[in-house]
Amino acid sequence: MEKAKKIENYYGFENGINGKELYETGIKQAENIGVEVEKQEVTNIQMIEHGFEIKTENGNFSTRSVILATGNKKNKPNIKGIEDFEGRGVSYCAVCDGFFYRNKSISVIGNGNYAISETNELINIANKITILTNGEKVPEFRANNDNVIIDTKEIEAINGDKKVEEVKFKDGTILKTDGIFVAQGVAGSMEFAKKLGIMIRKR
Ligand SMILES: Cc1cc2nc3c(=O)[nH]c(=O)nc-3n(C[C@H](O)[C@H](O)[C@H](O)COP(=O)(O)OP(=O)(O)OC[C@H]3O[C@@H](n4cnc5c(N)ncnc54)[C@H](O)[C@@H]3O)c2cc1C
Repeated sequence: MEKAKKIENYYGFENGINGKELYETGIKQAENIGVEVEKQEVTNIQMIEHGFEIKTENGNFSTRSVILATGNKKNKPNIKGIEDFEGRGVSYCAVCDGFFYRNKSISVIGNGNYAISETNELINIANKITILTNGEKVPEFRANNDNVIIDTKEIEAINGDKKVEEVKFKDGTILKTDGIFVAQGVAGSMEFAKKLGIMIRKR
């Protein structure tokens, strides 16, 4: 919403309103009626007894219910082969697919809090994890685990035969890998829904 320069199709704004202003007005309106607003990135949601635990970059909250309203966005990086290997080594959910990679060498594509959270999910499952930032800056990550390394090279393609076998970088080097978890940007509704086991429909 914040990217919209001028919104003219909302009831009550005779001269239109810009997206940022509409967003900020909505937050103030909610606060005025007693809603507590936490401006934090949610990195994971897990079911617990009698509700959910919301994990954020700055701590956790527990709650009875959750409404997923993270908007619609595409987190898929533009890497050759990524779509071809979906379900054959490319996954978008560590909690859902991590167990397929017990004691294997895997990669996580991403460089933000969400990539770190997915890496933490996988740390006790995989033998070795390489965080691939695809040319982005290095994430702050202090794992008590020597098996996690960070590679900042730009990725050219994901290759394999029947399933993922390697990541080829633009400098021509190759990383052998058994699976790739895509965790770029922030987690959206779809990622959280998958983690919670909610049935989703492809559109
Ligand atoms: C340039 C542009 C112009 C537009 N103009 C119009 C217009 O004139 N009229 C109109 O009706 N629509 C317009 N739209 C569309 C409109 O902005 C969207 O339909 C609307 O914002 C969708 O609302 P939403 O609440 O579903 O998602 P969003 O507005 O995208 O809100 C989702 C929120 O969730 C937050 N979020 C996401 N992931 C996480 C996470 N892991 N942790 C914490 N927070 C998270 C995001 O930061 C964001 O604040 C425009 C869109 C764009 C891009």
